[in-house]
Amino acid sequence: MFHAVIVAAGTGERLDSIVPKQYIPVLGKPLLAYTLYAFDRFSPIQDIVVVINPRHEKLFASTVLGKYRFSKRLRVVHGGDSRQESVGKGIDALTCVENEFVFIHDGVRPFVDEDILNRCAKAVEIHNAVCCALPCVDTIKITRDGKTIDHSLDRKVVWRAQTPQVFRVSLILEAFRKAIAEGYTATDDSSLVEWMGKPVYLVPGSEENFKITTAGDFLRAEELIRWKTT
Ligand code: C5P
Repeated sequence: MFHAVIVAAGTGERLDSIVPKQYIPVLGKPLLAYTLYAFDRFSPIQDIVVVINPRHEKLFASTVLGKYRFSKRLRVVHGGDSRQESVGKGIDALTCVENEFVFIHDGVRPFVDEDILNRCAKAVEIHNAVCCALPCVDTIKITRDGKTIDHSLDRKVVWRAQTPQVFRVSLILEAFRKAIAEGYTATDDSSLVEWMGKPVYLVPGSEENFKITTAGDFLRAEELIRWKTT
């Protein structure tokens, strides 16, 4: 059985906007509603936990929950100061057995589609931990001082992680508990499993499944929605 945790508790400081980016309407509908619909439509997923910022409760109620109908039960929980904390709170709120699976996804990646979700669902049943990602087309430079290049990475071995990242519940619970106990932090969930020395299988994501971060990303999102609906 599959469950989903959608994290949307960020304040979106990189985008200098009064409305947090997950609530900004794209062609009339808030970004987060698109993301939730993608999971609502995917029938193998039983229930969805949405992690929101406590300060956004009214905004979520008025622009998403009270405005759109979802066929699945959405459970709403409050997030924390970091993405990792928010995911942890989402996982804690799941009502599932440890042998089941959880999709963890950024609320600001609205273009996750059925193909990606299917690829992840199939792979996680075999591999226990999967991370959606794409091979890197740019050469990655490492800098220590932010001014000069220290060294470059071999592009052939570099992949860009996206979400969803999907795990057997027992495995991701173990990773989160260990990370909390030992004070380990990371910017995605797969990193916690990697840190425990357990394998994480790469599943191809897509260029469309980008994380909306900048004002330009909103224009790209709008174009993509127009293109998909014509
Ligand atoms: O900050 P970052 O780009 O990694 O955020 C990815 C996702 O994590 C976003 O959907 C954001 O709302 C969420 N997040 C969260 N709680 C935080 C920080 C980020 O749920 N404290």
